[in-house]
Amino acid sequence: MPARGGGPAAGQDGMTSAGRRPLVAGNWKMNGTRASTAVIEAVRGGLTPDLASRIDVLICPPSTLISTCVQAAEGSPIAIGGQNLHAKPSGAFTGSISAEMLADLGATYVIVGHSERRAYHHETDDGVHAKALGARRAGLCGIICVGETKEEGDQGRALDIVRAQLAIGIPKGATARDTVIAYEPVWAIGTGLTPTPADIAEVHASLREMLDKLVGEEAGRIRIIYGGSVKAGNARQLLGVENVDGALVGGASLVAEDFLGICAAYA
Ligand code: PEP
Repeated sequence: MPARGGGPAAGQDGMTSAGRRPLVAGNWKMNGTRASTAVIEAVRGGLTPDLASRIDVLICPPSTLISTCVQAAEGSPIAIGGQNLHAKPSGAFTGSISAEMLADLGATYVIVGHSERRAYHHETDDGVHAKALGARRAGLCGIICVGETKEEGDQGRALDIVRAQLAIGIPKGATARDTVIAYEPVWAIGTGLTPTPADIAEVHASLREMLDKLVGEEAGRIRIIYGGSVKAGNARQLLGVENVDGALVGGASLVAEDFLGICAAYA
């Protein structure tokens, strides 16, 4: 299905035509020092009240910066989230951080099962499920990432892969308050490559159908965002695809002007 003309359909009340409030989320990955709070301040300064009334804006810095970013974002529409968590609330897990610890710092979201965690830290769908439960336990909204590799896509298995990742990863009784789904084709992350709008529409429609089966009536309120080389220059087209309720942004979230350019797709 092609992208609608004129960009994403965020109406006067900030909702998409499907009634879901768009989420534009930045993932800083392993980038940033305390000086990076300047990015939060610049995003804060560049978000007009009108735009802030239409969309949710989230930045997920490294865990070392959550506290300082929460302070920098205080009183603004910008939410701060974590990039990962341990499923357990506490214990002998050296180097790990629990959902409760993230919440204690003022984080309200956490990314779960990012493809880089799956690839470099061997995270499984069952592990993603446990982490999503951990996020919910602490009152965080878990952004559950799903996506096919290039090889899986070339084999025509993209839909099977993301549907299975969703079915295993999502906790029973998920709600819009505690769950966002991010479709991130692995081959599109950090490469400058993106699927066609028609391909994104097909995957998002399939995920939405699966969500309906898995969580029933609440499914219609759960956002499914797209991630993978979203930039200011392609945001209006990608975020205008049916069933795309926002973006998960890596590289372009490190520069305030670029991130604001993506948010502006909803202006
Ligand atoms: C990501 O890290 O989730 C991501 C989508 O990265 P990028 O925007 O750089 O492709």
